[in-house]
Amino acid sequence: MSYKNFPMVPRVVFGRGSFDQLGELIEPKRLNINAPFIFLVDDVFKLDGELTSRIPLAYNDRIIYVSADEEPKTSQVDELVESIIVTSKERPSGIIGVGGGTILDLAKAVAIMLTNNGKSEDYQGWDLVKNKAVYHVGIPTISGTGSEVSRTTVLTGPKRKLGINSDYTPFDQVVLDPELTNGVPKDQWFYTGMDCFIHSVESLNGTYLNAFSKTYGDMAYGLCKEIYLNGGLPTKEAQDKLMMASWHGGMSIAYSQVGVAHAVSYGLSYLLGTKHGIGNCIVFNHLEEFYPKDVALFKTMMAKHDIQLPQGICSDLSESDLNIMIDVALGLEPLWENAVGKNWKKTITSKKLKELYLKM
Ligand code: NAD
Ligand code: ZN
Repeated sequence: MSYKNFPMVPRVVFGRGSFDQLGELIEPKRLNINAPFIFLVDDVFKLDGELTSRIPLAYNDRIIYVSADEEPKTSQVDELVESIIVTSKERPSGIIGVGGGTILDLAKAVAIMLTNNGKSEDYQGWDLVKNKAVYHVGIPTISGTGSEVSRTTVLTGPKRKLGINSDYTPFDQVVLDPELTNGVPKDQWFYTGMDCFIHSVESLNGTYLNAFSKTYGDMAYGLCKEIYLNGGLPTKEAQDKLMMASWHGGMSIAYSQVGVAHAVSYGLSYLLGTKHGIGNCIVFNHLEEFYPKDVALFKTMMAKHDIQLPQGICSDLSESDLNIMIDVALGLEPLWENAVGKNWKKTITSKKLKELYLKM
């Protein structure tokens, strides 16, 4: 048995208001005055003069606002890299992502593609990246995905939705400032937070579980219960805790795998463009067979926060569309093996998945 030698984020700052330390954190990493820092910022902050004024720009540094309306695509990564190369005198000193999982994943992928030839779709998979990425910093503004700690950046390409999983993917520096999550709309707070809850459930109930994953998973699970079983809007303390839950949830799946909700929701996302957080919730709501205790808990949390999920999203789909989703889901073999065991193909059939999709 050979065990994975797993890279971790080497530096992290945690604290309310810590965003203001960004300038002093990155300045020693500046290669020279012609090598800018590029800030990829969620465009939800474009009109927020307060956050923008706190971004420490110097020399030729610049901000690129990016929409998070759609999840990251390989073509989008390639275009961003191209535009950064043609508008910078030298290769950037660093890429700094400020936003949710969408922007964090884009920042990781752009940093990788600035030092690796070809198209980003060529690197979707495991350990295909050859050269170290440009220095990159992740600053989450919504909590739950665990992208801030993970070894992957999930991209939708022409052929598949799959991560660039590599030792060069994790951030060199993360800044965890829970104050940045102040403006998150309630429904989105629930969906992205539930991504973390589902990471912990899928890890804790998986066949790949080990003590490393369990300790992180238990922590994320306990924190999510504490936060979401309380009604009302998140307090400062709950914002702090959810940011750490996200971190632990991400660490928990690092050394194990996700499971049924993720496999099935990747199908929804590939065909219908359903976003990750809400997609996971739509699927998880119907997974009593796999995670009975936690689906019941999830329904209680939804009721506490008056969350209404869309219904009937697959009811008008053609047979061939359903088959596309089923193929995407069944293609995620490690997820099924983790969820159901080595003999998963005996019970997880196309027919079963079709019935499941038609319930949503
Ligand atoms: P997101 O980044 O798409 O953001 C969701 C919405 O919240 C957007 O409209 C965004 O503009 C808004 N938002 C973010 N911060 C805000 C703030 N402070 N105030 C107001 N609005 C704010 O959502 P997400 O759930 O964080 O990320 C989903 C993405 O993460 C997917 O692309 C998914 O594939 C990816 N993901 C990656 C990993 C990984 O390990 N790399 C893990 C899980 C999910
Ligand atoms: Zn997830």
